[in-house]
Amino acid sequence: MLQQTSVARVREPWRVFLQAYPTPAALAAAPLDEVLIRWRGLGYPRRARNLREAARVICSEHAGAVPTGLRALRALPGVGEYTASAVASFAFGAPLSVLDTNVGRVLARALAAAPLTRLQARALADAARGRRASAPWNQAMIDLGAQFCTARPRCEVCPVRRACAWRARGGPDPAPASAGVSRAQAPFEGSDRQLRGRVLARLVEGVSGAAFEAAFADVERARLARILEGLRADGLVELESVRLARA
Ligand code: SF4
Repeated sequence: MLQQTSVARVREPWRVFLQAYPTPAALAAAPLDEVLIRWRGLGYPRRARNLREAARVICSEHAGAVPTGLRALRALPGVGEYTASAVASFAFGAPLSVLDTNVGRVLARALAAAPLTRLQARALADAARGRRASAPWNQAMIDLGAQFCTARPRCEVCPVRRACAWRARGGPDPAPASAGVSRAQAPFEGSDRQLRGRVLARLVEGVSGAAFEAAFADVERARLARILEGLRADGLVELESVRLARA
């Protein structure tokens, strides 16, 4: 939920979502349209679909308990390298480094002072962690990147500024070209992501036909069609009737 969505936006909807679906079994049994309604405010809706699919696999193949192994976590729908290692480390204490965009910036700047390939970043992350407990270490690295070593780094107040390799050596910022570091996102206001959310919200409310057309009269037809096609491709709507998918 926090990937490319801020903590402030996620905090309250996340609490409500977990109250509604406290276990994988509860989520697996819920209809998709209901899950999408409860997901509002939690970022990309296809993640809700993936999470529900993952809950179904957890129930059918793991007796309703989230698997602890990296390989089994990676096999769940919608779970990539970052999510699998984050769950294994934070939930189960597995000795793994977590490599997200925040950690990628810290590694490239504070430790390497150079752009890193994915292999180099992973090796450096593991070497830096050493034998420390993985969850607090990974959390500290993520927080360092999120609070200080941001896209525009706040070096003057950074707690590791005296040990930072890039600060000592100078030169161009190595972070943007480094593995795992996302490109800056376009502003949310006016974006396709925002319009997708608006379209899905109207569908959740049951708006269709002429009322749907009227609600989006200000949007260029080709753009609206593209947004609807994207929602259909993600399995979130059925275009024939312009309603939420239940399957
Ligand atoms: S001193 Fe600056 S560049 Fe170095 S880790 Fe801190 S914020 Fe990042």
